[in-house]
Amino acid sequence: MQRSVLVCVCAAAAVLGGARAGRHDAYSSSAVFGVQLRNTSDLELLHNLELNLDLDMWQYGMPQVRDAMVMVPPHARGKFLSALDKEGVSHYMHVENVTQALETHDEDIARWKSSRAPRLIFQDYMRYADINAEMERIAGRHPNLVTLVNAGKSFEGRDIKYLKISTTNFEDHSKPIYFMEAMIHAREWVTTPVAMYSVYRLVENRRSQDQDLLDDIDWIILPLVNPDGYETASGVRQDRPTRLLTPPASEWTAIELRRSHGVGTPTNPCAITYAGARPFSEPETGYVRDILAEHKDRVQIFMDIHSHGNYVLFAYGDGTLPPNALPIFLVGSAMGAAMDAMKLPQAGFYRVGNSATVLYSTSGSAQDYGQVAGAAMSYTLELPGYGYGFLVPPSYQDHINEETWQGIAVTARLSRQLYRDRYSAANTQR
Ligand SMILES: [Zn+2]
Repeated sequence: MQRSVLVCVCAAAAVLGGARAGRHDAYSSSAVFGVQLRNTSDLELLHNLELNLDLDMWQYGMPQVRDAMVMVPPHARGKFLSALDKEGVSHYMHVENVTQALETHDEDIARWKSSRAPRLIFQDYMRYADINAEMERIAGRHPNLVTLVNAGKSFEGRDIKYLKISTTNFEDHSKPIYFMEAMIHAREWVTTPVAMYSVYRLVENRRSQDQDLLDDIDWIILPLVNPDGYETASGVRQDRPTRLLTPPASEWTAIELRRSHGVGTPTNPCAITYAGARPFSEPETGYVRDILAEHKDRVQIFMDIHSHGNYVLFAYGDGTLPPNALPIFLVGSAMGAAMDAMKLPQAGFYRVGNSATVLYSTSGSAQDYGQVAGAAMSYTLELPGYGYGFLVPPSYQDHINEETWQGIAVTARLSRQLYRDRYSAANTQR
């Protein structure tokens, strides 16, 4: 099995905007089906249906553990259901009317915005301009700690900015770097608030017990990788034609990755899993590549934050493992356990492992690219969906932020020691 893009249940561009009549009409008669997977054959069947019928996976299932959720347009419904029935695969209606679910989500957001004031920025689904303004404000207020960097323009000309947080201006190479990025996939709205909350906890709301995270580690936080997708104003949440204008920043496949970690990405640019014309064909992915290259030997953790499904995943997408897979697994497991300790009852437990083993084979993921590009430990984090898929009501955001921050802190501390060991060994050899 080969999947393009990333294991997370996402690929298309999204829209963030006010409710208006008919904006989700493109999904009228689309439904989301739950599929109960018995074994890997069922998984394979579903994967083939996904590719052949160009279906949109809302959640990748695990046999006997977690049902898959698949959005099926009306013209594909007959073929989809008969293929499942023919093989005796159980299925059920999960969301009967996607348009209505999207409208309900809009209403949730509107209600949330009107019901709470004043709000901190990470307690809401904020707009691109608000995120940039907040980063500018934080950098301006903490000039000795925070540097705002403009990486460059997006495909549509929006600035892509990130924050560097360091007590030593990134000049102390005995410190590891923690590189966190969010919102490659534009419909995963819960991810950017987590990145902004991490900034808050490191800079403006630092607790005494967390001082070591600032003293010992340098941080790079890129909260919005794909602003075009996030800001698309077409009024269609997962509009495929606009995906080409608002790429999901999905093509990470360096030439060496293509050679050693497989291909298999669809070449039809209208396919949901289309990954781009060529490696790094989108400027957004190029900026992340450049950050990794700039700090090649110091990035201890590369955390690529997605939604949803409660997963901590690591390389490689073809099922092979990096040489340090064991510490990667142990640190990832500690992260999962820290987040599970705070989990809401309606959330699943975090599953931790190699992405191909836990979910599906992939190629061209940021996680794989981060690993080969020099990050000691590269992860895909899939935040909780609470059964809402991508449409998590904003009232959950506070909890997701806090829970995830606890996981991030655990990974930072554990990997700090691994970096120190590596650094001192390298310097002893000199
Ligand atoms: Zn994603």
